[in-house]
Amino acid sequence: MIVANRKTLEEILSMLKPYQKILLLGCNECVTVCATGGEREVGVLASEIRLSRAKDGEPVEIKEFTLERQCDHEYIDQIRSFAGDYEVILSMACGAGIQYVAERYRNKVVLPAVNTTFLGVTLEQGVWAERCQGCGECVLHLTGGVCPIARCAKSLLNGPCGGSSNGKCEVDKELDCGWQLIIDRLKELGQLDKYEEIIPIKDWTPARDGGPRKRVREDLKL
Ligand code: SF4
Ligand code: SF4
Repeated sequence: MIVANRKTLEEILSMLKPYQKILLLGCNECVTVCATGGEREVGVLASEIRLSRAKDGEPVEIKEFTLERQCDHEYIDQIRSFAGDYEVILSMACGAGIQYVAERYRNKVVLPAVNTTFLGVTLEQGVWAERCQGCGECVLHLTGGVCPIARCAKSLLNGPCGGSSNGKCEVDKELDCGWQLIIDRLKELGQLDKYEEIIPIKDWTPARDGGPRKRVREDLKL
């Protein structure tokens, strides 16, 4: 899941300052699961904006609407009949959703209400943690299913570095050392021999370093 955090109300109010008619757009997918930009959060943010602006003597009209997804044109197009009635769209989706809405409504200002942070998992109610950086060439089969890119602070492919101490990372003592996790897991799996193998230099061209990526499945195209 993509994990995001809502921007502060002050930041959002500052972006909205010039506008009176706002379409506040939520998304029913990842940002709903991480309790940042779903229908409930749309309602909360809309109330906060209305109250603040009314207090400042600058009332606003807000339409609340939550799409199934903001990263799919078939859903984004559901707002076509009324998007034109609003000066601005404030999106609570991840960065991909926000941009896709902006691409579909080119004459509309589209603003971000959230900060998109990482690909992660739900550890427990209200706690999410990073697990993947979308490097494009997965090495989990070599590392006991623990990602060295996302879970080692230095993204080392062969670790640990000299700073690992008592299973914690030198970058932050609260953080588990990613490489300690890898070693522990390989031990559990009886695959410590894999740790002896040097992971070769990684080809980063399938990662973001090779520029914006695109995936095409000819068999699925209409
Ligand atoms: S190796 Fe790459 S694709 Fe696999 S989990 Fe890590 S970042 Fe994600
Ligand atoms: S201490 Fe561990 S997690 Fe931290 S940078 Fe070094 S190898 Fe990576």
